[in-house]
Amino acid sequence: MLSDRAAKIKPSPTLSMDAKAKAMKAGGLDIVNFGVGEPDFDTPDNIKEAAIRAIKDGFTKYTPVGGIVELKDAIIEKFLADNNLRYKREEIIVSCGAKHSLYNIAQALLSPGDEVLIPAPYWVSYPDQVLLNDATPVFIKTFEADSFMVKPEALASSITRRTKALILNSPSNPTGLTYDRVTLEKIAEIILKHDLLVISDEIYEKLTYDNFTHVSIASLDDAVKAKTVVVNGLSKSYAMTGWRIGFAAGPSEIIKAMTNIQSQSTSNPTSIAQKAAVEALKGPQDFIQIMRAEFDRRRKFLVSELNAVPGMRCLTPTGAFYAFPDTSALYGKSVDGKAISSSSDLALYLLEEAMVGLVHGGAFGDDGHIRLSYATSVDEIKKGVGRIKEAVSKLS
Ligand code: PMP
Repeated sequence: MLSDRAAKIKPSPTLSMDAKAKAMKAGGLDIVNFGVGEPDFDTPDNIKEAAIRAIKDGFTKYTPVGGIVELKDAIIEKFLADNNLRYKREEIIVSCGAKHSLYNIAQALLSPGDEVLIPAPYWVSYPDQVLLNDATPVFIKTFEADSFMVKPEALASSITRRTKALILNSPSNPTGLTYDRVTLEKIAEIILKHDLLVISDEIYEKLTYDNFTHVSIASLDDAVKAKTVVVNGLSKSYAMTGWRIGFAAGPSEIIKAMTNIQSQSTSNPTSIAQKAAVEALKGPQDFIQIMRAEFDRRRKFLVSELNAVPGMRCLTPTGAFYAFPDTSALYGKSVDGKAISSSSDLALYLLEEAMVGLVHGGAFGDDGHIRLSYATSVDEIKKGVGRIKEAVSKLS
């Protein structure tokens, strides 16, 4: 009954793991959930009030497909202020979340047989979005020793005649690590040499630590900018995951194709959420610093706690709100005759035994690790890691 396309796709593993932990919690179990991919902060009041005003003013009808001019202009100002990138209105599209912008990009760029390079570990939706468009994801393994940045040599040797684009994600979900300017310059050189496109997912841009300054690959020079579509959004920076506002900036030809595709699928993002987004981008920005400082505190605490668990080793993330410890030393151990031989065995064991929800690294294309989100309180982190430690100590 279903299409070949539908048969290729699995539900988002991060969303389904989160749903499982939430269902256990709703069933009365005391679950500590490190599975979530959204800030545990409320959307700031000034943003909510802008949405309420939009409703009261009757701003409740269709808008231009790719977003209202006021919001596009606010996004243009954001790119200039944060990334030193100059875009025109026809180089911007507003979508129903960054995920939707990424999906539109895949639809606009990919034909059957095209290959898309995806450094692994990767965010779960990249491969499936490529598959949904009958193209082929090609994974490039990255390593802790390189802070999970793709090695330029590995990138160059993965390119074939069919390679169309590279997906970059910095700060990264799931690793929490970031690309530095020098590495981006080396990557850009290869991209230009082979005439490839870059899809740069910068949704965690505002959440960086230890004085790390985010660099957008598009900002390196005009030649790279002409080959890059930058994706960003409000979900993470302004705690607006439910509002569904994301955006992309890139060459007008690509943005136009994305807008046509959006016009035949979802039409415009919600009018009310667009007004809220204008306020988010143009109103006071102090919320971000408050949230970032709290994430920073939790990050330091979680990483030091994880490194104290025998068999786990965790790099200090420089961005986003995830820790990604190496748990491979625990594989091969067992408990009550049950072997733990993969990240999913470990995640399931921790959920059932320790009542701790997290996502197995296999979901991100890296079985040697697990992902914990620290979008939860320090008390919960303390409780959760305590339980992990106890459960791990039972493995032998
Ligand atoms: N990219 C990455 C790397 C993400 O982690 C997420 C959210 N989990 C998204 C894109 C999508 O964000 P949204 O659709 O909420 O804007």
